[in-house]
Amino acid sequence: MTAEGFPFSAIVGMDELRLALALNAVSPAIGGVLVRGEKGTAKSTMVRALAAVLPDVGVVAGCRFSCDPAAPDPRCPDGPHEPGAGSLTRPARLVELPVGASEDRLVGALDIERALTEGVKAYEPGLLAAAHRGVLYVDEVNLLHDHLVDLLLDAAALGTCYVEREGVSVRHAARFLLVGTMNPEEGELRPQLLDRFGLTVQAAAPRDPAERAEVVRRRLAHDADPVGFARRWQPAEDELAARIVSARGLLPRVVLPDAVLRQVASVCAAFDVDGMRADLVTARAAVAHAAWQGRAEVTAEDVRTAARLALPHRRRRQPFDAPDLDEDKLDEALAGAETDPDRGPEHDPDDRGPGGASPAPGGPPQASAGADGPGEHAEADGGPPGAAVPGRAPERTATPGALFRVRRLEVPGTGTGAAGRRSRARTDAGRVTGALRPRGRLDRLHLAATLMAAAPHQLARGRSAPEPLVVRAADLRQARLEGRESNLVLFLVDASGSMAARARMGAVKGAVLSLLVDAYQRRDKVGVITFRGARAQVLLPPTSSVEAAAGRLAALPTGGRTPLAAGLLKAHEVLRTERLRDPRRRPLLVLVTDGRATGAAPGESLTPVPAAHRAAGLVAAAGVASVVVDCESGAVRLGLAEGIARALRGTVLRLDDLAAGPLAESVRALKEVA
Ligand SMILES: [Zn+2]
Repeated sequence: MTAEGFPFSAIVGMDELRLALALNAVSPAIGGVLVRGEKGTAKSTMVRALAAVLPDVGVVAGCRFSCDPAAPDPRCPDGPHEPGAGSLTRPARLVELPVGASEDRLVGALDIERALTEGVKAYEPGLLAAAHRGVLYVDEVNLLHDHLVDLLLDAAALGTCYVEREGVSVRHAARFLLVGTMNPEEGELRPQLLDRFGLTVQAAAPRDPAERAEVVRRRLAHDADPVGFARRWQPAEDELAARIVSARGLLPRVVLPDAVLRQVASVCAAFDVDGMRADLVTARAAVAHAAWQGRAEVTAEDVRTAARLALPHRRRRQPFDAPDLDEDKLDEALAGAETDPDRGPEHDPDDRGPGGASPAPGGPPQASAGADGPGEHAEADGGPPGAAVPGRAPERTATPGALFRVRRLEVPGTGTGAAGRRSRARTDAGRVTGALRPRGRLDRLHLAATLMAAAPHQLARGRSAPEPLVVRAADLRQARLEGRESNLVLFLVDASGSMAARARMGAVKGAVLSLLVDAYQRRDKVGVITFRGARAQVLLPPTSSVEAAAGRLAALPTGGRTPLAAGLLKAHEVLRTERLRDPRRRPLLVLVTDGRATGAAPGESLTPVPAAHRAAGLVAAAGVASVVVDCESGAVRLGLAEGIARALRGTVLRLDDLAAGPLAESVRALKEVA
């Protein structure tokens, strides 16, 4: 227990987070905590303060993998440990995984060069080894690269870290309390990762003025005299640590009565969660809560507390809904199970709990109805220039059409951007495309190229026929890998009357939302600009939060003339700023339009169409890759979008061709089989 940092007990409020962390400290089997909240809450401070109140850990002396002296890992790379090996006690560790960490840093580095040339298995443990029997903390866990997420999930699921390079492998135990913090505004978490966290907590700064004042008072006192502050809080810290120890001791004796277990099942069924993990986590958290309260039997109140922490992120929901839990419904489910103890929850999931309410898996919730009726008198496309007063044109808000899986739109060429799933890029994971001399440490051997490099030297190295090949360090060749990067996808959406007039806006919104879902899955950064009436508007500045984009887009009204040039100039400006901010992230401009241009940019001397073409030329000259999604429909087509696509030096795609090929193909294949 150290005096550095802010004491866990001195943090004001955030009782739910405190409880969630304490329950995991009592019962690590719960599976960790995900803390969601805006910046500026003390969520990270609290997580970092946790280690100081965790019980000390006994380890085998000299073991880099923190083997428990009572039960050393039989496969420990530093083992086997003799039964009489020395041991020592050290504080529990909190290990931070930085979002930009390399694979080697996480799982450890295996020196293939030494393995191949000296026959030594040299392994440098990574963060997973350091976190074993402690806490692994990922701040901004939603920004963690997919590749690291996969490694982390594997380790968490197996309790083992496994590293393999070119047939040389190492494994060691890696069981840790996983804690992640995230700001949902910066992007959501992959569902698989979300489900890995046992509990979720929403963290918010206190609203009560007295509480806020107390936060400041303590912070000032701490900063003025950290050592004295820590000393004053030490009794509270000790008390908390002792409570964790005693709850851990009580945990194995806590009884979960059948009636209460039925409540767990009833609650999980009422909230329509996927799979069985929710039931298990809720049960474990309820047991831990009873132990935390010093009770040897689980009650309905424990289940209630556990469900509030374990279920919000597991509830089946629309892609962009925030996780939360309806408290009234929770009470109903608990009461329903109580009054009906003889009924197993599996028998009739539709007939349980007063009201039997279940979340309707209907279409997207939309307030505006009937907005897509034909014959809407959208005008303003033929009015005199300069007369487009916003508000004069009829405005409507179309309900987004059905979502679908879209084709992968990509930036041509090979990039070097952050890992993702869109455009081709040189990466540290992916398929092998060639060999090169290693720069720095060799981590992916290209065997064929290495053998070819060694072959000409065999006579000079004194090898005679039956002996094995003599390989020297200079022969080793590194594999060159190609994977995919994420991009900045900037949507430029025509929201003018000409789009609305053709009753296409619902379909267009559905298509753009589908593209947004796709961008989310491919880990892209997204931005949305719309143009209509007199101007272009940045609906969403480039961000990783697709939810924000989806919400604003669904509510977007349409109508008015079509200032295409203004839209393109705005896109040009936004992309230029983004390039300065993040030069390696290659942009893709997705222009969704019917290609008509009836409004000019402010201060523009050209008429709308040439102005649009000139603006498109500027975007192209900046080296931005573009795709024009052509929304023109009907028998007579003007083909205006093709002209804009040419000016952008981009490609054009019909709205109807946006749906992914593979989906249609698999459906066709199924029909053929049938
Ligand atoms: Zn060991």
